[in-house]
Amino acid sequence: MKVVVDRTKCTGHARCFEADEELFPLDDLGYALRSEFDVPPGAEATAREGAAMCPERAITLREESP
Ligand code: SF4
Repeated sequence: MKVVVDRTKCTGHARCFEADEELFPLDDLGYALRSEFDVPPGAEATAREGAAMCPERAITLREESP
């Protein structure tokens, strides 16, 4: 699974960060730091939670085919 964050939509609510600080780190201004990254094995549910918590719908999850 891959996470894609549209940083042009990010308004710095930090809800993703609340879901998981390591998966969704913020920059110094409180905006999502990483725009695209692979979800470590076992962290898929947390990634879904972080995406669902974003009020700007800035976080998209991409399931990768095996
Ligand atoms: S929850 Fe959404 S808007 Fe808020 S920091 Fe994370 S990506 Fe940005």
